[in-house]
Amino acid sequence: MNDYVARVSAGLQERYANEPEYLQSVLTWLDMIAPALDDPRFEKLDLLTRMVEPERMFTFLVPWLDDQGVAHTNHGYRVQFNSAIGPFKGGLRFHPSVTPSVVKFLGFEQTYKNALTGLPIGGASGGADFDPRGKSRREIMRFCQSFMTSLYRQIGADTDIPAGDMGVGSREVGWLYGQYKRLTGRAESSALTGKGLTYGGSRIRQEAAGFGTVYFLARMLEDQGETLEGKKLIVSGFGNMSWGVCRKATELGAKVVTLSGPDGYIYDPEGVATQEKYDFIIAMRYSGEDRVEAYAEKFGVEFFPGKKPWEVPGDAAVPCATQNEIAVEDAVLILANGVRYYVEGANMPATTDALKLLRLSPKVLTAGAKASGSGGVAVSALEMAQNSIRYNWSRREVDDKLRTIMSSIYDTSAAAAEEYGLGYDLIAGCDIAAFKKISEAMIAQGL
Ligand code: GLU
Repeated sequence: MNDYVARVSAGLQERYANEPEYLQSVLTWLDMIAPALDDPRFEKLDLLTRMVEPERMFTFLVPWLDDQGVAHTNHGYRVQFNSAIGPFKGGLRFHPSVTPSVVKFLGFEQTYKNALTGLPIGGASGGADFDPRGKSRREIMRFCQSFMTSLYRQIGADTDIPAGDMGVGSREVGWLYGQYKRLTGRAESSALTGKGLTYGGSRIRQEAAGFGTVYFLARMLEDQGETLEGKKLIVSGFGNMSWGVCRKATELGAKVVTLSGPDGYIYDPEGVATQEKYDFIIAMRYSGEDRVEAYAEKFGVEFFPGKKPWEVPGDAAVPCATQNEIAVEDAVLILANGVRYYVEGANMPATTDALKLLRLSPKVLTAGAKASGSGGVAVSALEMAQNSIRYNWSRREVDDKLRTIMSSIYDTSAAAAEEYGLGYDLIAGCDIAAFKKISEAMIAQGL
């Protein structure tokens, strides 16, 4: 580490000592891009500081009334992290775990993820510490409207384009968009992505996060002379991402045998592989109960309360739940179970030590969420493109474009790793490739 990098790193650790997720994501990244940091211009322009901290960040109150007429107040956030290569772009998360540290880590990861898609989008993130669990539809709608009333001045098609994330699906995007339209009087389609198909949404957007991850895994397998045919996938979560993974993995001949929730995991030896099962995942999500046991009850499979799926043997581990869901002991299980591919869907699913263990093990090939988890935002950018030409591409067209984008992210990551003598290190490779792109754009635009 050179002097400048050491100073930036020490400054961050002092200033953000109370923001563990944010520090974890930035410090891991600094480690990954170390081989590419030998350029005097970075210090001259204080580029690193400007890359690891958000350009700006908003905090606002979100007051709302529940169905009994009782008032509640939540905290809303929007982090506009980096606009070097396009307008700020990223999801909104409604979950009690949302803090300034979490939205900053998400905005940081989003910036580099978005750069890798090759599309002109900067990075952002946001959300609220609102818990949709147990809330009625009307309560969630009122919450979305109040959230947008506080936020609408800061976003727009050429400024910042929010989308969904945990707790925010197409239903919530609809309510957010409806309120944005009422407040501005403009049918500005590209102000939000993840919209419904009847009012400017893109085909495949809901499936894209999971589809993209499976396409990425398919490319890794292809490079090893293998295919998805007959592979067993260990998947966590049961949200949008897991749902998309199940569908595309099944289509390409693999089998997803686990799903998980905060209550434990289910093991389905037949695979989560029928339309009825896919639909049930959506129903579980919208039930607002946030438990996966219902799947076991419905389909008569085993449920393991309080456990994580990583104890199940399989060919690939695909974490799709949330940050830091894989601790060192889980990484040890993944390695002991003969898993050969570790492909992140969710952002930062492994703790620093767990990731180190997986990355450095010769037994498993690893891909980081900034690369393998970027399918969702890639199709968001395609949604913006369709909105601006007032046209809708077919399912086939969007799916083909998504596959091409994921494939090129794979190639870019592998090529950067190779260029810096890192062998087949897709995690460092993707971080370096995105870093180079954003730093060049920032240098070109001056201080
Ligand atoms: N949070 C989501 C993701 O990165 C959505 C981002 C977007 O579509 O803007 O996958």
